Amino acid sequence: MSAAPVTAAPTTWSLAVHGGAGGMSPATLSAAAQAAARAALHTALAAGAAILRDGGGAIDAVAAAVAVLEDAPQFNAGHGAVFTADGTVELDAAIMDGRNRRAGAVARVTRTRHPVDLARAVMARTPHVMLAGVGADAFALTTELEQVANDWFKTPERRRQFAEGGATFDRAMKYGTVGAVARDNDGHVAAATSTGGVTGKKWGRIGDSPIIGAGTYADDRACAVSATGSGEDFLCAVAGHEVAAQVRLAGQSLTAAVRAVLDEVAAGGGAGGMIAMPRTGEPVLTFTTTAMYRGSVAADTPATVAIFAED
Ligand code: ASP
Repeated sequence: MSAAPVTAAPTTWSLAVHGGAGGMSPATLSAAAQAAARAALHTALAAGAAILRDGGGAIDAVAAAVAVLEDAPQFNAGHGAVFTADGTVELDAAIMDGRNRRAGAVARVTRTRHPVDLARAVMARTPHVMLAGVGADAFALTTELEQVANDWFKTPERRRQFAEGGATFDRAMKYGTVGAVARDNDGHVAAATSTGGVTGKKWGRIGDSPIIGAGTYADDRACAVSATGSGEDFLCAVAGHEVAAQVRLAGQSLTAAVRAVLDEVAAGGGAGGMIAMPRTGEPVLTFTTTAMYRGSVAADTPATVAIFAED
């Protein structure tokens, strides 16, 4: 499961976040909603940057950035997650450390305020990589992580959407999964992703976000990746690992690798986006939808955030 650490290339820290890809446009997203989303992205970047600037690890930075986005009601993760077909909230999250390719993931958890921290606890405190459902909720009770009622995740906006027909499975992905990729000053990369999945999901549906190698992947020999979009397509493309494999084994540039995987997803009728952090150089933030909530910051670059393609 774990592997020998990789010698890091000399580099400086960098962080990118996303709040989901979807069909938003300046016409359909109110100015207030845009401003709130941009503010939350900035707060997430600041939380991760504070860690990286102080010499902290990429794994700590991605966890901190994603935890901020889980609390932000604008995004489909944690507080503000979409509803299942029966009106509950089931959360998925994963985290991966590029140093040793260790990972933790949870699926269908219902009570932990910050699923990304629960995923990290799976990685750090169990011999497992992934826990799901009632077992994962039971594991959460053995940790100090904050537990909340399932209702706590349900914002007024999501309740309204559910009342207006949210029980229908919705592949349109109007609401954003969240994720982060980071590189620290020691050149190590990490990735984390957290989501409520898709609106109206049933039968215990789990998408790509918590699946190591699909929605979340990190390998110091290549890059760290967090995906968002039509999860079934990203699952079948094994998107995160495919990007890393193209970089590591095929010598592809990170930009070309991300593009190739998004093209493969699109060829299957899917859509979405990915953020990817290389061992050196700038992150790639690319999407095939009309918009993706996103932002980045680095040691030598101030934080910027964007939503639409033309931003
Ligand atoms: N990929 C997520 C899922 O399928 C949804 C999203 O990113 O919007 O669960």
